[in-house]
Amino acid sequence: PEVEAEPELTDGFHLVIDALKLNGIETIYGVPGIPITDLGRMAQAEGMRVISFRHEQHAGNAAAIAGFLTQKPGICLTVSAPGFLNGLTALANATTNCFPMILISGSSEREIVDLQQGDYEEMDQLAIAKPLCKAAFRVLHAADIGIGVARAIRAACSGRPGGVYLDLPAKLFSQVMDAEAGQKSLVKVIDPAPAQHPAPEAIARALEVLKSAKRPLIVLGKGAAYAQADAAIRSLVETSGIPYVPMSMAKGLLPDTHPLSAGAARSTALKDSDVVLLVGARLNWLLSHGKGKSWGEPGSTKFIQIDIEPREMDSNVEIVAPVVGDIASCVQALLDGMGKGWQQPPSDWIETLKSKREANVAKMAPKLMSNAAPMNFHAALGALRTIVKERPDAILVNEGANTLDLARGIIDMYQPRKRLDVGTWGIMGIGMGFAVAAAVETGKPVLCVEGDSAFGFSGMEVETICRYGLPVCIVVFNNNGIYRGTDTDPTGRDPATTVFVPDSRYDKMMEAFGGVGYHVTTPDELTRAVNEAMNSGRPALVNAVIDPAAGSESGNIGSLNPQSGIKKK
Ligand code: ADP
Ligand code: MG
Repeated sequence: PEVEAEPELTDGFHLVIDALKLNGIETIYGVPGIPITDLGRMAQAEGMRVISFRHEQHAGNAAAIAGFLTQKPGICLTVSAPGFLNGLTALANATTNCFPMILISGSSEREIVDLQQGDYEEMDQLAIAKPLCKAAFRVLHAADIGIGVARAIRAACSGRPGGVYLDLPAKLFSQVMDAEAGQKSLVKVIDPAPAQHPAPEAIARALEVLKSAKRPLIVLGKGAAYAQADAAIRSLVETSGIPYVPMSMAKGLLPDTHPLSAGAARSTALKDSDVVLLVGARLNWLLSHGKGKSWGEPGSTKFIQIDIEPREMDSNVEIVAPVVGDIASCVQALLDGMGKGWQQPPSDWIETLKSKREANVAKMAPKLMSNAAPMNFHAALGALRTIVKERPDAILVNEGANTLDLARGIIDMYQPRKRLDVGTWGIMGIGMGFAVAAAVETGKPVLCVEGDSAFGFSGMEVETICRYGLPVCIVVFNNNGIYRGTDTDPTGRDPATTVFVPDSRYDKMMEAFGGVGYHVTTPDELTRAVNEAMNSGRPALVNAVIDPAAGSESGNIGSLNPQSGIKKK
């Protein structure tokens, strides 16, 4: 008698992995545990890179910045309830920053969760994720995994990018189905972020407004960096002859030393400009909402805005020329419309900004050159500024208060998407997650400039950096505390709320896991240590001793810090 061949089977585990791989996703950032431990193992066995972290928030931040760097959704994989919640902070942050990311979390049995009968790590994760991300989906049947993953990818990448939650209940993973039917159920997402061309009349309107300007300005935001339209953006600036100000993560889109960069004359540029072209930058708090004294006389500024999200227009002030579409298409359309005979902006405006910029640079220069100990922020950053100039392809990760604000102004960037920082929320804790993904996704060396407080949020991930042998050099600006290290408890009982153990040796943390630690007290020592570390390509941490009295409260954003008007008797 003929023996019927056993039908080949597949299951939920393999379908998830196959669906991701089919869509060109090669890396998963996560923390293993029930019910996704085997998913990670199998993904690794199937050739994916699986980077395991010590805490989900950092895996999530890694996935988010991988999305920013590659335009493919970064994947973060977590366990249920607490692991999911830990990852959710990063998902919400990714959504706020318009980074494409997918948080995939295992979840407990639906039947028990929905009846609230108290399952292991019981939580209605889909409901909780929904308001905090761009889209959220749950897959209940193995046959729907292909569609579920496809929807997640398309939601993350198309239009304004953002974070997507994908809920995979434990039962799904071991569901079996016929392998051939399984393969057929997978979907390769065609053109996940389709070009969105601007309307010709929107381009004509924008060019009319731009032509009328006496003091035009371009503001480049991280949307412009994300868009990877680097050549077109450079050509827009150079063809139009309009000076530009880069937002933090758009630094390096054109080199900060470009003659049309008004970065070092930012206040003057914002205050005195009459027409501003926003390219992938929102008029949120980081641009004083497009109004108030930063923007000069009320009503003195007209805004043209390029954005893929139509509802961004008029969110804070009137946009006289909305240009809705993807940045590459919009910038190209503007360039085509400018044609050959484009009138350069009045030279007095260019001269004003140029002399303001030169004056500011000259004022700053001596502060960057002191070699005294203890170091202040300027002297230490002066040393790092030279290192970044000599290593323009290194990626700079930056967080802290003073460490962030001052580094942003002092360290020039020379290439696109090399500066990764705290973004729209000004969040602390992105450091090690961003550093890991920057190294993994680009293979470039990473210099991570961290306030000691900021470092603390993700510091345990130095083990992750050592485990994967990543070329990450962390510099901790150690001033013994938050903002400063000099506060005291008025009651004399405890340490002040903003100070840490004085003279801590963060370098020893790196040594504990086999990396190289350095302890430095002068800019010369700092330069030597960072160069040695970056030449070695090995994990390193430089504990840079900063004067505890050097920082200012809240860095540059002290005005956001509420003050009590009441004097206690
Ligand atoms: P920044 O903080 O640097 O000013 P924001 O995050 O505020 O930047 O703004 C980025 C903007 O870029 C968002 O409004 C987003 O919708 C937009 N954006 C992102 N990617 C694209 C793209 N490919 N084309 C057009 N706009 C984009
Ligand atoms: Mg500090």
